[in-house]
Amino acid sequence: MPQSYNAIVIGAGVMGASIAFHLAERGLKPAILERKVTASGATGYSSGLVRMHYDLAAESELTFKSYQQYFSQWKERVGGECGFQQTGFLQIAKREHEAKLRGNVINQQKIGINTSVISAEEAKRLFPDLSTNHFDYAAYEPDSGYADATLTTNSFIESAKRNGATLIQNCEVTAIRAAGGKVIGVDTTQGSFDAPIVVNAAGAWAKHVASLASIEVPLETWTHDVAFLHRPPSLGRIPACIDDIINCYFRPEGGALILAAGEDESLRGEAPDEEDQTPTPTFVEKLIDQMAQRIPKIEQSGLHSIHVGRDGITPDQRAIYSGTDLGGFYLACGLSGTGFKTSPAAGASLVELILDGTPKTVDISPFRFSRFAEGKLIKEFGYGNIWK
Ligand SMILES: Cc1cc2nc3c(=O)[nH]c(=O)nc-3n(C[C@H](O)[C@H](O)[C@H](O)COP(=O)(O)OP(=O)(O)OC[C@H]3O[C@@H](n4cnc5c(N)ncnc54)[C@H](O)[C@@H]3O)c2cc1C
Repeated sequence: MPQSYNAIVIGAGVMGASIAFHLAERGLKPAILERKVTASGATGYSSGLVRMHYDLAAESELTFKSYQQYFSQWKERVGGECGFQQTGFLQIAKREHEAKLRGNVINQQKIGINTSVISAEEAKRLFPDLSTNHFDYAAYEPDSGYADATLTTNSFIESAKRNGATLIQNCEVTAIRAAGGKVIGVDTTQGSFDAPIVVNAAGAWAKHVASLASIEVPLETWTHDVAFLHRPPSLGRIPACIDDIINCYFRPEGGALILAAGEDESLRGEAPDEEDQTPTPTFVEKLIDQMAQRIPKIEQSGLHSIHVGRDGITPDQRAIYSGTDLGGFYLACGLSGTGFKTSPAAGASLVELILDGTPKTVDISPFRFSRFAEGKLIKEFGYGNIWK
């Protein structure tokens, strides 16, 4: 006899966890089916940046609502911890992108985001150990920072469980069952489950999971190397930062380390199951050179460790939050290496789409699955593709 649930969420990364949290908050009793354990996919490797600077309004709105309604008041809103650290965030853009930087900041201010354009001198006053070579202006968000993606996931799930959700780990979905154009359940390595709502939040595996419902999702695997550097003892305060001049992002990691990664050289198309933790051959050398241009004291640092994470990426490097032609079957995937910070509001909005027909937290129609068939890929990239 199949077990019956109101809804099934496939995947216990941060996206599946957020969806389960919001479904349970609305009184449903979902089952979260996870082939391994919680946060064992992209989420467990996430750099956890929480910043609001995007050039697509819908993404800025998702991050703003995620910050304002969740990360900044996690205990009250969700319960447990998300590890949010408010370090401030700097978006450093190339000189030729100054007009785009200013335009993005104006749009973000209209949304209500606490952001402004500051000069290189002001950046130096705030963060004296940053070199201000090669830029005149940056966008600065004093409220932003980073959070812990695994803690975030686990507290979403614990809260969902308190509201009646069930987490089943080591349970791989192997088939999706449908009848009369509607999803009716899934088969797994732990038996069959019936539900009228099934959400595919299977990260880099989402393409395969969708294929079980005969749906072709344009997704490939994106591989990302991340380094942890020892923090030089004399280094002062540094922000979370995306630096388009040195093609890196970085942030403090607790008191002892700095997390840093490149924005180019990401491998594409590895098998989602690939577990190799070897970075690309030039990763460390190149990263240290690039980082030393922005934080000269990095020369006094050394490598602590490296990890390699993998996410699903779409052709326009934007997520899919959407229904499909199969009734009751939804996609929350293709988060394209930037989906942690948006996961609270994206989960809320998708659950509103599922239960009410229209999302009210944020209009997620730009992320509809049909954009690929319509040939209407999202094009707003003020500074070029996020990932080269
Ligand atoms: C190295 C790295 C750094 C990043 N840094 C940032 C950042 O700084 N800020 C930011 O906002 N975003 C960042 N991201 C992106 C963000 O972390 C991801 O977009 C997000 O964590 C994806 O969450 P997810 O739940 O969609 O996928 P995942 O975390 O991959 O979860 C999917 C889950 O589905 C399970 N699953 C797969 N197939 C099945 C099946 N058949 N049955 C059951 N379960 C299944 C998997 O085991 C997995 O646990 C980063 C990503 C990486 C890899």
